[in-house]
Amino acid sequence: MIKLKDISKVYKKNIVALDNINLQIDQGEFVFIIGESGAGKSTLLKLMLKEENPTKGHIFMFDEDVTKIRARRIPILRKQIGVVFQDFRLLDNKTVYGNLQYAMEILGYSRKAIKNKIPELLETVNLTGREKAYPHELSGGEQQRVSIARALIVDPKLLIADEPTGNLDPVTSWEIVEALETINKKGTTVIMITHEKDIVDKLKKRVVHLQKGKIVRDEIGGKYEED
Ligand code: ADP
Repeated sequence: MIKLKDISKVYKKNIVALDNINLQIDQGEFVFIIGESGAGKSTLLKLMLKEENPTKGHIFMFDEDVTKIRARRIPILRKQIGVVFQDFRLLDNKTVYGNLQYAMEILGYSRKAIKNKIPELLETVNLTGREKAYPHELSGGEQQRVSIARALIVDPKLLIADEPTGNLDPVTSWEIVEALETINKKGTTVIMITHEKDIVDKLKKRVVHLQKGKIVRDEIGGKYEED
């Protein structure tokens, strides 16, 4: 479903962020991407989202070569990908319901679709009943689950979570990981960037370890190992 073939990314001043990467991720996989700061993790995500272009190589997203797609096709690509960030990025002046409604309105969904979809999204992330709460009334874990619900609006084939538990305590982090596992079990491919050793070790999923722009380990059922 996702294939990076001989991908290198060199930024200005000859900074090599990715160095001849080959990576294939199939539909339905759950993959951890680990590696220390500067290893190239964010660059990898930016290439998948086509926020950056590779210096060399080809990227296939959902079996389409996106290396040279036209600008007007980029929104179509992005609509197939949900993204969750470390810092939630919710609108503070809108309720849980309001945040999801607003995001759906921007995406052009009808009122009927919005009314039908939001309860389903809240159920998936276990937030039914919290519709009227404002972000400041929610725990960090609940806020992150709202942001996951928002990422699921488009029924993405791929969910990318960039350090989703980075701002959360260990107990709350598990709520997030469980939500991501539930979503993955329903068929969505999940890519999670993380530094949390406990999570990686316990889940025994595929681990892709980046070091200085290279994949130094790609292991199914892998553990977190320090650089
Ligand atoms: P990670 O997400 O693993 O911390 P990044 O992909 O952000 O790694 O960075 C990989 C390397 O590329 C680092 O050396 C970083 O400084 C560099 N880099 C990242 N983004 C840019 C950019 N826009 N311009 C120049 N260098 C960049």
